[in-house]
Amino acid sequence: MEMRERVLSSVLEAVGDTPLIRLARIVGEHANPVAVKLESVNPGGSIKDRIAVALLDAAEAEGRLHPGGTIVEATAGNTGIALAMAAAVRGYHAIFVVPEKMSPDKIAILRAYGADVKVVPEVPRDDPDNYQEQAVRIAAAIPGGCYVGQFVHRANPDAHYATTGPEIWAGTAGRVAAVVAGAGTGGTLSGIGRYLKRQDPAVEVVGADPIGSIFTGPVAPFKIEGMGEDYYPETLDPSVVDRWLAVSDEDAFAMARRLAREEGILAGGSSGAILHVALRVARETRRPGWVVAVLPDTGRNYLSGIFRIGS
Ligand code: PMP
Repeated sequence: MEMRERVLSSVLEAVGDTPLIRLARIVGEHANPVAVKLESVNPGGSIKDRIAVALLDAAEAEGRLHPGGTIVEATAGNTGIALAMAAAVRGYHAIFVVPEKMSPDKIAILRAYGADVKVVPEVPRDDPDNYQEQAVRIAAAIPGGCYVGQFVHRANPDAHYATTGPEIWAGTAGRVAAVVAGAGTGGTLSGIGRYLKRQDPAVEVVGADPIGSIFTGPVAPFKIEGMGEDYYPETLDPSVVDRWLAVSDEDAFAMARRLAREEGILAGGSSGAILHVALRVARETRRPGWVVAVLPDTGRNYLSGIFRIGS
């Protein structure tokens, strides 16, 4: 038998094609089947691997990023990890500005990839010391600096339109009743939503939102990391979202712990929030087909928080 080499040319080629897994125990009776899209199996450990390469490609093509340059980004962690991985492969230096509430676990990972990390207090989007503004200023002050811009660049939602959306459609053979995702930049929800609606306008696109985030308002502090905002990012297209459902920190974290213990899937707090909403959608929907919950990252990022022993 002839054997064919299957060796990838870099870790970046291992991004995407993540599994869809049916939940067996957590979904009650009289509900549609629920499948989770397990984005933690990406090599950088989250859904953000998908946008990192696309954002760097765009920056290079637009002449904003040159060989040996320094990428600077505002990130709640996962985009930083994905960009740090891509920067290592492509020979860029990386600096990340992260909000104070970010888990120490994720900061340690950024440093492990060789990135510099600046932790800043959390202030509103329109404050000049907001983490996005700080990242813009740092990039401008460094020769060869490039602000990546996950909150503004089309390459972010477009990466999900090109990969995550088609994977969900193909993986369910087009039998999708609803898809549930969170929104930080809104790239995931907008890109997947646009793709699925184009295949079948009746697919329900549901945004899971922390209580305290603006999409379900009013704005107040919350603990869930990576999703929920205090303003509408340019990368979010609210027109593809059929409805938003709010979820509390407690419900989100309780669901993340149940997912680990009852289904053997260790996912983060935003995943818990998204799944909490997905189970409700699965009970309520009148359309046949899968309810797909897109789980952004792994619970290993939160061992000192949500999964601390005794919690
Ligand atoms: N959950 C986590 C843990 C994340 O890091 C992110 C990305 N900020 C999201 C959810 C939301 O994804 P998006 O930015 O595509 O809306």
